[in-house]
Amino acid sequence: MASNVMTRPATKKLKNNKPKPHETKPSPNHMDFNRITDEQFLEAADVIKLEPEISMLLRTPYRELIVQIPVRMDDGHLELFHGYRVQHNGVRGPYKGGLRFHPEVDLNEVRSLAALMSWKTAIVDVPFGGAKGGVTCDPSKMSRQELQGLTRGLTSKIDMALGVYRDIPAPDMNTNAQVMAWIMDEYGKKHGYTPAIVTGKPVNLGGSEGREEATGRGTMIIAREACKANGMQFKGATVAIQGFGNVGSWSAKLFAEEGATIVAVSDIKGGIHNPKGFDMPALLKHVKETGSVVDFKGSKPIANDELLLLDVDLLVPAALGGVINRDNAELVRAKMVIEAANSPITPRADELLRIRGVQVVPDILVNAGGVTVSYFEWVQNLQQFHWDLRTVNSELERRMIKAWRAVYAAQQERRVPLRIAAYCVALTKLAEATRQRY
Ligand code: GLU
Repeated sequence: MASNVMTRPATKKLKNNKPKPHETKPSPNHMDFNRITDEQFLEAADVIKLEPEISMLLRTPYRELIVQIPVRMDDGHLELFHGYRVQHNGVRGPYKGGLRFHPEVDLNEVRSLAALMSWKTAIVDVPFGGAKGGVTCDPSKMSRQELQGLTRGLTSKIDMALGVYRDIPAPDMNTNAQVMAWIMDEYGKKHGYTPAIVTGKPVNLGGSEGREEATGRGTMIIAREACKANGMQFKGATVAIQGFGNVGSWSAKLFAEEGATIVAVSDIKGGIHNPKGFDMPALLKHVKETGSVVDFKGSKPIANDELLLLDVDLLVPAALGGVINRDNAELVRAKMVIEAANSPITPRADELLRIRGVQVVPDILVNAGGVTVSYFEWVQNLQQFHWDLRTVNSELERRMIKAWRAVYAAQQERRVPLRIAAYCVALTKLAEATRQRY
């Protein structure tokens, strides 16, 4: 389980033992992610001239659950957690999206992330809707036993909204294959063996080959295609990656394997820089042994904020949302920003980057490889058939390239930024399905 949890600097520690009001407005230290994604939605809705009725339906979540999860902690006291599941849109298929364990999880953030899932599944054209969930907690301060109790508690509390053809959770920030195994096990107690209820499981328990690396692989494929389209060489391109969790570390490995030069990476403990590029296998070994990128031989330390401002070809934010904002957007020197994290750039920063000609490749396209392989996992579970890694990776590659081409074509046709083009592709598909249903 993650030993570190990144937090936004200004955020105070939350006390889980106090019942928390479930504001639909974010608390003062939180970013208003729902407003951010809603603004992006409206911009694209305007471009495709979406009729107000459809716009209203697509902007509104279908169902929002807030649940109380009491957990008996190791020291004997009862701690009260709050869990969320937002099902945003299901016109194209069952609700689908991850579960996040983080101190800053709140309804507003989950709502925004659920909407992003609806757009993502439409862009990569998998027959799913969008959902997201999470628990406000600090997993770095919890034992394995406590996390298991929390996961089982959440599963049973949202059980009535889940289903193989209704809503299928997956990993997200600070949740992993082990957490998914507990969900499958808990759900199975009531409903019998149901591997397709959750994706991102351990391969041994019905998980898919290639699921763990899928978001990183998708990120690499889209970055490579974006370079091609912009007349840049991917081989030899210099890359800075912020965040070294599942998405950041797999991206680093796969970018390097495809010939890019990773010059800076960071995690919660700090960052490292080497203008000549890291020996990636050695760095991954170092992280495995020490738990952090910090102190890797031959590298210089670099602060997380400085990493974002390096003069590189590709900047890959792969951690929290809102890291590129009005305070630092004008100082970003990368040629292209590849949004591996969800909402790493605020709308104001997006605008500033746009003015300065920094190309932004948007989250709903870049990180959609995860849910794409989740779809493969679900299909394999339903068919009780196991695909090999080559099949998974080549099918992922095919779908990501197709998605890139659709978004790029929309950008060329409509002369809008890539983010808005991606929204246009998603909203067009969702609008069509909505019209056919109502
Ligand atoms: N949590 C991941 C995402 O944000 C994966 C979701 C899934 O596989 O359902 O895209």
